[in-house]
Amino acid sequence: MLKDQFNRKISYLRVSVTDRCDLRCLYCMEENMVFLPKKDVLSLEELHKLCSIFINLGVKKIRLTGGEPLVRKNVISLIKNLGEHIRTGELDELTLTTNGMHLEKYSEEMFKSGIRRVNVSLDTLDLFKYKKITRWGNLKKVISGIMAAKSAGIKVKINTVALRNFNDDEYDNLIEWCGKNNFDITFIETMPMGEVQQDRNKSFLPLNILRSSLDKSWTFREIKHETPGPARYLYCNEAGIKVGFISPLSHNFCSTCNRVRLTCTGKLYMCLGQDDFVDLGKILRKNENKEKIYDLIFQAMQTKPKEHDFIINKQQLKPAVKRHMSVTGG
Ligand code: SAM
Ligand code: SF4
Repeated sequence: MLKDQFNRKISYLRVSVTDRCDLRCLYCMEENMVFLPKKDVLSLEELHKLCSIFINLGVKKIRLTGGEPLVRKNVISLIKNLGEHIRTGELDELTLTTNGMHLEKYSEEMFKSGIRRVNVSLDTLDLFKYKKITRWGNLKKVISGIMAAKSAGIKVKINTVALRNFNDDEYDNLIEWCGKNNFDITFIETMPMGEVQQDRNKSFLPLNILRSSLDKSWTFREIKHETPGPARYLYCNEAGIKVGFISPLSHNFCSTCNRVRLTCTGKLYMCLGQDDFVDLGKILRKNENKEKIYDLIFQAMQTKPKEHDFIINKQQLKPAVKRHMSVTGG
């Protein structure tokens, strides 16, 4: 079992299978993004090798993310290979975070491979606003994708980034819609990751403000924290769903962090909110003894920081970390 220097058990790996995406959400990417060089991107087989090492080391949950995981060519082969570890009982859960644009195509195969839950990012239910925030997205396609996942037997959770002056009039609608469809929903604060053509200070909405506004329409009850993740969940009595809050800036969630993040080039980041990494991809490609990769992972655990460095305020104009969220995934 992997443990870090603060004795936190590391049992959860997030894998960004590509930093590329078919959308350009305003808070996530610039319109003309420069992506990682293709030659550095590990093949799906190489990514599977690294994932298998983590599974050997006691990782029980893997989430595929990106960029947009479902735009990676032949990604389903990786999903199938990882699904085998579910079948053998080595892995407890395989999940995916997606923008939903390709769910209609992949949901059935995802279910067959063992995926039972997906997170779908959806910041608005308004066609025009969806186009605006994603630049290139198609809300109808996303809704069809979400419904296809539901029909295939996959439990959907909606992720909504809370954005001042953009979707702050929609939270009640979103909860109502999720309630009708039996989807849980998590609200997320914008994080200062990578340069975008927007001032994140202006769109940052602390979730305690969002919560106060929800209290006018809904009642909530506390529920037991099920996973050691960053979200704090409440049960919404009227909608009959869980409503989560991820507020890294207004409420630090690091003490129970159980995850590390692998990029599509094989860099292992110990924290979403810091720039330190070890390069497992490089060693894998040098064809060095597998033990070297194990050693490097153990060393890396000792560098996992106690907490992230996120801060958004008027003095701090530069992002807290240079890389975009799409490199390490949400
Ligand atoms: N493309 C997929 C998607 O959109 O779900 C997976 C990758 S995306 C980077 C993962 C999550 O990160 C999404 O829910 C997205 O809204 C969120 N995200 C991206 N940039 C963010 C930022 N700067 N602050 C907070 N959340 C962000
Ligand atoms: Fe793409 Fe997801 Fe980033 Fe939007 S949030 S640009 S869908 S990676």
